[in-house]
Amino acid sequence: MTGNKGKRLNQYISDYVVFDLETTGVRPDADEIIEISAIQVRGHKAVNEFSTLVNPGIHIPSAASRVNHITDDMVEEAPKLAQALEGFLEFAGNDILVGHNIHSFDLNFIYRGAMRILGAAVENDYIDTLYMARQCLPKLSHHKLSDVAAYFHISTAGAHRALNDCVMNQKCYEELGKILEQRRKTNPEIICPKCGSEMVKRSGKFGEFYGCGDFPRCRGTRKI
Ligand SMILES: [Zn+2]
Repeated sequence: MTGNKGKRLNQYISDYVVFDLETTGVRPDADEIIEISAIQVRGHKAVNEFSTLVNPGIHIPSAASRVNHITDDMVEEAPKLAQALEGFLEFAGNDILVGHNIHSFDLNFIYRGAMRILGAAVENDYIDTLYMARQCLPKLSHHKLSDVAAYFHISTAGAHRALNDCVMNQKCYEELGKILEQRRKTNPEIICPKCGSEMVKRSGKFGEFYGCGDFPRCRGTRKI
């Protein structure tokens, strides 16, 4: 394996690339990417977009088509993954990647594809808005992208096509980021002194303490 995967960050930043994939199913080791979309954001504003269907070389199961409305006919003339992925990675450059549930889903497809095709890891750090939403909107019972969008009164029209989901998620990230900043301003003690991640309450043999949310990667602590 060449290189390292990026780190998961939890920050409100102004410049990033938000991305989303549609796939033939939920198993990164067996299913294939059928659409990649991304939006480049500068100064919190969308400035550029990238979107391509991908010919997966296999039949798209009807269960997948029912969700994303992408069919075999639609991808017949589309580029193969190698070309699509290279285009996406070039578009993303060294930007921090933002996406919903990318830590356990989309990035695994990207990592596997990049390893298989380019023989390299994708090292961009990333922000998963699913984690942010759970942290910033703890009272919401579900944190799917459409739940978060509905909470902020952001339109969910055309959901489950990758570019529409990117547009939706970019708006959600901007709203979640403002809540994150506010939480940190009101509770500066929850910021890890070592890495800037948020800390969580833990209990050890000497009682309760704040420990870095990025444990075991970071071992920052603070007394309560
Ligand atoms: Zn830390």
